[in-house]
Amino acid sequence: MTSTPLHRQRGTKIVATLGPATSSHEMIKSLACAGADVFRLNFSHGTAADHQARMEIIRGVEKELQHPLCVLGDLQGPKIRLGTFDGGHVMLEQGQSFRLDMDTTPGNATRAPLPHPEIFQAAQLGTLLLCDDGKIALQVVGQSPDHLDVVVKVGGKISDRKGVNIPDVLLPISALTDKDKRDLDVAMQLGVDWLALSFVQRPDDVQEAKRLVAGRAAVMAKIEKPLAVQSLQRILDVADGVMVARGDLGVEMPLEEVPSIQKHILRKARALGKPVIVATQMLESMISAPTPTRAEASDVANAIYDGADAIMLSAETASGKYPLEAVATMDKIARHIHVDPEYRRMLAAAHPDLQSTAADAITAAARMVVETIDAAAIVTYTTSGSTTLRAARERPPVPIMCLTSKRETARRLALSFGVHPVHTDDVHDFAEMVDKAMVLAHQHGLASIGDRLVVTAGVPFGTPGNTNILRIVWVEQRLL
Ligand code: PEP
Repeated sequence: MTSTPLHRQRGTKIVATLGPATSSHEMIKSLACAGADVFRLNFSHGTAADHQARMEIIRGVEKELQHPLCVLGDLQGPKIRLGTFDGGHVMLEQGQSFRLDMDTTPGNATRAPLPHPEIFQAAQLGTLLLCDDGKIALQVVGQSPDHLDVVVKVGGKISDRKGVNIPDVLLPISALTDKDKRDLDVAMQLGVDWLALSFVQRPDDVQEAKRLVAGRAAVMAKIEKPLAVQSLQRILDVADGVMVARGDLGVEMPLEEVPSIQKHILRKARALGKPVIVATQMLESMISAPTPTRAEASDVANAIYDGADAIMLSAETASGKYPLEAVATMDKIARHIHVDPEYRRMLAAAHPDLQSTAADAITAAARMVVETIDAAAIVTYTTSGSTTLRAARERPPVPIMCLTSKRETARRLALSFGVHPVHTDDVHDFAEMVDKAMVLAHQHGLASIGDRLVVTAGVPFGTPGNTNILRIVWVEQRLL
């Protein structure tokens, strides 16, 4: 059996954000070999040309490694920012009065520009505005259509273009700004596999993006606002996946609530069989150090124990000094946990109820067969990817080798738990598919001669959602 670095020996996937530190061909290839399954293009930073250059490299690396790589385009969303200050910054003292207004001249110790008129309408007396990742808190004490009077609740230094979060107010804005719509077009032209939406407030935000995307990518809702947490079930119903975006979530919600919200989102997303990413500050100290803190290692581990499909690196890989070490650290932790019996017990305890469908009956049976006879892999043959997602929902202990003739399906599924996607030619009947499965499982290092595979398929082929076969096969010498 040949072994390939792309046979991951873990179910949990790794998302690496690309940036100035990781834009070369050599670096992106090394990230993939070290364990990155998904590359995130962050549209909050960089130009369309930067993203295009990275995309071309990813597709080149994909060809060299002959393994589907998933690309996640992440839109900035309606990030609200202050304007600028005379001299770049001012100090705000607790208890002082301050004004936010539409005047574009630089701010001073008494006022600052806030070029977002919709906020003046939506805010109410008592509304809290959190600036600079929540470091400064301002409370509204007076409002008009063109300004807000506030009292400084928590003071400090405030500087040019700092972000403003308004946690408790449903803002009358779509999750897609004009910049996002332009970036969405760029992302579609580049051919991203997933598109993530920032600051989703309601299911309609996801629906609007889905209309514009029109099936060209899967759509992920970033959960980072209290209103999105409240509407989680309805957002999950329409989104193809979700991200626990803990950076803004930890500003918009009390920090102590973030861990339980993370667990809640993971459970709900798994129940629907939709991929879920845990993101932000997972290995933050590795931006400048070659090893993580014990607490960070434990945070990564806990997201894995809770059954995340994927864990994400942001600045650690985009601009940090140790991007490869950060990916390798996640890979090591995930591989270690993958074989921990406690992990299997936790996944089994959190197993969601089955729907009364053939796909759930067969994928649940496939996992049980694997566990009973110690098979080497599950094989799914899919066009849309729907049965493979149901198999991933089972969180089996072995790889789910997904054979598909649709390149987009293979790439999209690379984000999902345990899926080893293989792009292959169409097959015409079940016997041909089984032979192909044996050859490919062997070639990809997923099974040795004499190992057993659990194969699922829908026969006759070509009807999505038609899964009706489960078969156990031995990998035979004669075919290899
Ligand atoms: C987050 O807020 O945690 C997040 C992932 O979003 P971004 O990095 O785009 O701000």
